[in-house]
Amino acid sequence: MKFSELFHTIQGEGQLIGVPSVFFRTSYCNLRCVWCDTPYTSWHPEDRDITVAESVAAITQYRCKHVVITGGEPFIQTQALIELCRELDAQGHHITIETNATRFAKVDAHLISMSPKLRNSNPSADDRFFNRHERGRIRPDVIRKFLDAYPCQVKFVVDTPEDLAEIRALQTDIRIPAETILLMPQGTTPTALEQKQRWLVDLCKENGYRYSPRVHVDIWGDKRGV
Ligand code: SF4
Repeated sequence: MKFSELFHTIQGEGQLIGVPSVFFRTSYCNLRCVWCDTPYTSWHPEDRDITVAESVAAITQYRCKHVVITGGEPFIQTQALIELCRELDAQGHHITIETNATRFAKVDAHLISMSPKLRNSNPSADDRFFNRHERGRIRPDVIRKFLDAYPCQVKFVVDTPEDLAEIRALQTDIRIPAETILLMPQGTTPTALEQKQRWLVDLCKENGYRYSPRVHVDIWGDKRGV
């Protein structure tokens, strides 16, 4: 399969924040978020090959229970993802898959961490990826299927308070339980996150959503492999 990086760190976002985890980052994505924080998997994808057996060996060497398979978009390499999860599950790992929730497949995973992309992710209208991104970024049927089949969290990257109207509409249309929704500030530097934290916490309080910091950005900024 095509991958970008593999490293041992702590989970920086969401329900398992702070838990030591091995991150396996697949390469390639079907979307093109304008603020993508891993452009080396989407806009300019790295192209390193690794077999499922090699991935399992590299992941298990850390003797760490929690594994996070992230991207890029892991579900676009469907068969390899299914095999990788089957192997890791058989070895007793807790598996989180971080996905943009535009492709569904049955996999052995313990937490599906969806991050559906809001309008604020659109590339500029004259970008050649605009139409593809705008058409493909929200798949209500896929989000619903994951919610029905797995323990889930639904993380939204929020740029301005105006984004809340879109989140509320999706919550209603797809019937997303409020307690599974997490809001995270958009930004790749501690300063950018800090500017959005206070009003975002207020919006979480008003709507019954959970606030999620982005601890890896607070500690390491946009440094890779940490
Ligand atoms: S879905 Fe994720 S990996 Fe893909 S372009 Fe958006 S932020 Fe980047």
